[in-house]
Amino acid sequence: MIDVVEALRRIEESAIVLPPRRVRIEKSVGLKLQEDVISDADSPPWHRSMMDGFAVISNDFARVVDEKTGVTLEVVGEIAAGEAKPIILKRGQCVRIMTGAPMPAGADAVIPIERVVTGSSGGHAGEQVCLHEPNFRLGQHVSKKASFFHAGQTVIKSGIELEAVHVGLAAEAGSSHVIASAPPCVSIITTGNELIADGQILGKGQIRNTNEPMLSAAVARCGAEPIPMGIAKDNAEALRALMAQGLAADILLVSGGVSAGDYDLVPKTLEKIGVECVFHKVCLKPGKPIWFGIFKRPAASPTLVFGLPGNPVSALVCFELFVRPTLKFVSGQSLEMQSGSHRMAKLVGSVKGAGDRPVYHPCNLKLFDNCLFVEALQWGGSADLLGFSRANGLLVLPKNCGDYREGDSVQVIPLDSRFHHESE
Ligand code: AMP
Ligand code: MG
Repeated sequence: MIDVVEALRRIEESAIVLPPRRVRIEKSVGLKLQEDVISDADSPPWHRSMMDGFAVISNDFARVVDEKTGVTLEVVGEIAAGEAKPIILKRGQCVRIMTGAPMPAGADAVIPIERVVTGSSGGHAGEQVCLHEPNFRLGQHVSKKASFFHAGQTVIKSGIELEAVHVGLAAEAGSSHVIASAPPCVSIITTGNELIADGQILGKGQIRNTNEPMLSAAVARCGAEPIPMGIAKDNAEALRALMAQGLAADILLVSGGVSAGDYDLVPKTLEKIGVECVFHKVCLKPGKPIWFGIFKRPAASPTLVFGLPGNPVSALVCFELFVRPTLKFVSGQSLEMQSGSHRMAKLVGSVKGAGDRPVYHPCNLKLFDNCLFVEALQWGGSADLLGFSRANGLLVLPKNCGDYREGDSVQVIPLDSRFHHESE
């Protein structure tokens, strides 16, 4: 039986990085940008008021001699955000203006509304208003056209890993889509006569389909696109029909039916429809029955197929160890699958050593004084999802290792989303 490192090596050998795709901006977070984003407009697109107040001509204020009295101006109009009025301001005039509105022609500064001298009129169109601004600065409270970037400028450089801020910037620059490393599409088929959909009442011998929503969520968490395909009964015909559809995706995950039982028909059926087996069974616990193969497609990259064990914890451990790095690899985010996310930690308490398979045991990781500590958790095995839900990492016990004691240095894998660095 091959070990985890060899399994990852074979997956890496079979996988190829997907060509970049056109992706809607709000779906691009976490992806690598593959083409510069160039703005189609200036930012701001026009001189913009940054305050609610009065658009004025600086010269009317620059020459104020008596700082106490203020300047009286005629209000010739009002401009709200979203309005563009053809007002041309002359000396002695001002326009009542709101934050975000375009400055009228001729105006080059804004006096905030708070500077209206008490007892002056309300400052609406047709009235006079007295404005007192003792510390007047030329061009104050105006964001000048193109002061941030101009039309034709590259605002996001290819190669960057996109964050929410880049999504906003792309939108501001006029792009609804970007060309980014492809988020793989992942079909998910769950198998088993005993399965019913979540939310349904259990009948005799039935269990709920835990793996479909769980794997869909895990796939989405990686930035990939899950395609849940429903439950296939444990017969070759039902499996074949669903698998044939699932093979249209970049990656197909099939849960259950990969062990040695009479109804474990997944490996045979996959091979019958043309999926080449790359390995079946890996030396680890939980997750030993995992199956992996490739399906060659004439005009597209091959579909990578994982047969994951049916027990939910085994399925999730296999997802962490094999599927997550594969999703990163094919979307061009990480070229070294085997480097993994292993770290060393100091053991709290003691742990029984592993037998002839390495064990990936749920654990609690904690950062204290810059040192990572790990404690193994109580856990009822590969179907105990509640026990597993308390973990924020996996403690790796190499095969045939002896018992570990308090203070020993051990290998751990933080579970990305659940392990937060806590420094105390
Ligand atoms: P199998 O790999 O099909 O032999 O399944 C192993 C165990 O996992 C059995 O107890 C199944 O009932 C259970 N199982 C299989 N698929 C699922 C699933 N989608 N959700 C929850 N449990 C499952
Ligand atoms: Mg089954």
